Amino acid sequence: MLISEQKPFEEILDYVTKDRVIFLIGCKGCADGCESGGERQVLEIKKRLEEEGKAISGFSLIDMVCNEALTRMKLAAYAEAIESADSVLVMTCGAGIQTVASSTHKVIHPGCNTISSGHAEWKQAERCIECGDCVLEFTGGICPIARCAKGLLNGPCGGSQGGKCEISPNLPCAWQLIIERHSKIGSLHMLEEIILPKNWDPSLRDGSPTQRG
Ligand code: SF4
Ligand code: SF4
Repeated sequence: MLISEQKPFEEILDYVTKDRVIFLIGCKGCADGCESGGERQVLEIKKRLEEEGKAISGFSLIDMVCNEALTRMKLAAYAEAIESADSVLVMTCGAGIQTVASSTHKVIHPGCNTISSGHAEWKQAERCIECGDCVLEFTGGICPIARCAKGLLNGPCGGSQGGKCEISPNLPCAWQLIIERHSKIGSLHMLEEIILPKNWDPSLRDGSPTQRG
């Protein structure tokens, strides 16, 4: 199980400043168990965002958002509500947020920080290393800590060639993917934000996360 905590509401509100209409996604798996993104938390966020003048075009609670096939299928039923929204707020672990990002062309906002390890459904790849302070808001929903060989928070490093990482021609450059994703969803301006060095204290990950980032 991936343990996540809801981000402070002020941080979420800051993410959605420019958005008028938002679609919400919660998870009936780990995020429900952690009380960071289950039904009750999604309904609470919905109420608080509406109190701030935001419109919620709909919400979906999916059994395991980190299961890409399941999430794609579930979100297809909400295509109209998602299309009418300016963005999607995802109240799950980092793996779930990235699953939603890969399933829609909408701007994605992370509603939770993932603090401790477990197993997500993303096969043959680690997509979240539980850093405790999710930066997916700034990276188009693609984790640079888990996917860049150097764990760069501000990239690319300059070594990528033809979209591949300099450590292997078989590995996509994560920062190339981030740039392409930002281009696709119209958020290239996010790259003007410098992501500051991370405070790893909130992370409860076993081992040494400071090998990255
Ligand atoms: S930034 Fe990456 S490692 Fe940190 S919580 Fe988000 S997905 Fe996980
Ligand atoms: S080439 Fe891309 S993925 Fe590889 S280390 Fe550099 S920025 Fe990271």
